[in-house]
Amino acid sequence: MTTTQPAHAERAHALLGASSAPRWINCPPSARLTEHHEESRSEYAEEGTAAHELSELYLRQRITLCDSEARADLNASIKAFQLGNRFYGPEMENAVQEYVAVVEERFLEAKARSADAIVQLEERLDYSEWVPEGFGTGDVVIIADGVLEIIDLKYGKGVPVSAVGNYQMKLYGLGAWSAFNWLYDIREIRMTIVQPRLDSVSTDVIGIDELLAWADTVVKPAAEEAWAGKGTYKAGEHCRWCKAKGNCRARADANMEALAYEFKEPALLDLEEIGSILFVAEQLSAWAKDVAEFAHDQAVKGQKIPQWKLVEGRSNRKITNKEVAVARFESAEIEPEKYLKTELCGIGDLEKKIGKKEVAELLEFYEGQTLVAKDDCLNNFTKGQEVEVCEVMGDQIVLDGVARLDRKTVRANFEGVGLIQKPPGKPVLVPETDKRPELNSVEGDFAGEEFDV
Ligand code: SF4
Repeated sequence: MTTTQPAHAERAHALLGASSAPRWINCPPSARLTEHHEESRSEYAEEGTAAHELSELYLRQRITLCDSEARADLNASIKAFQLGNRFYGPEMENAVQEYVAVVEERFLEAKARSADAIVQLEERLDYSEWVPEGFGTGDVVIIADGVLEIIDLKYGKGVPVSAVGNYQMKLYGLGAWSAFNWLYDIREIRMTIVQPRLDSVSTDVIGIDELLAWADTVVKPAAEEAWAGKGTYKAGEHCRWCKAKGNCRARADANMEALAYEFKEPALLDLEEIGSILFVAEQLSAWAKDVAEFAHDQAVKGQKIPQWKLVEGRSNRKITNKEVAVARFESAEIEPEKYLKTELCGIGDLEKKIGKKEVAELLEFYEGQTLVAKDDCLNNFTKGQEVEVCEVMGDQIVLDGVARLDRKTVRANFEGVGLIQKPPGKPVLVPETDKRPELNSVEGDFAGEEFDV
């Protein structure tokens, strides 16, 4: 197969890998503490690996030079992937296409800036000048005079990942600069993370001087300590990705310290104190979950957790043979609506099975829908005029039997509610660093709304 497919699933991991840099830079001894912990691969990780494989095939097909034989080989590999990969579906196809489009666009930009720009896929990036045995694998590296760009696909949608100040991307940047600075005059590194399932493309740019200063003053000293298993344990956000997060003493100490909140007079806490306690509560609940998972894991492996025991959890009854059960109800002449149900899937499920773009298009306009002209437009309609959608034929929308317009024109000139609506979310309290705009108040912004309590 004309790909580095095995490289995705079997990417080697350095002790001081780029993806774990936030952990070992902030808590250097964590590297040796966890080096022999079992590596467990989740379904999400497997799915991400599959998306990387497909995107590499498309990128090789679209932006690398290859002869007709290699092209035929790539086409066959894509087909085989689409037919045979258990994670493949419209959602993956669309997400990968979005990512590939960003890479193509950035590569064309680089070519426009510098004719000798090149692109490397699945490039091993060695940053061992600063970190013992440090290397990682960059999804895409575009090398050109002036700017070197690293692009990374994050297929997950559980945790948003930004390129801004991202340690992993900065280490990749160091590795790429090390490999290519003797060939190209690289003055800055552009780092981009594409997270298509969250509709997110984030980019950060760092000058070479600043990157090298960070490597010398932050990375190198932390890496030396981490390699030697020395330094100070420090709990924080980075613990989330640590294999010792469930039984780490330093994390427990930090959390127990947070628990020892000093309650003073008067009897009731003021709002400032409540604000601080919310941060502590968040941290404690994440920790409690990790400790519970660790304990459960140990118990399942046969370890005894003092004062706790493993018991059978609650379970639901289930019908072992649905076909026979249906036949039994039929023969008893019970009305089908009493034992069968067919329901439309949720939007997330529809997008997964049919594709995000396809679902959005199918449900945007429908026959019988009422649209309202935003302004006097198209010589036929006046501002505020209501028109009915008579027919939807792919990109063409027929309005009131008088106009046949493409979707873009309809969107630009009319408004109306399609079959997907996003109601306002319930107010939630989040730290002020959250990117969403602040609501004025529940009374002001949610007047008239009803919420479950
Ligand atoms: S859980 Fe946190 S404090 Fe403990 S070793 Fe891991 S990163 Fe360090």
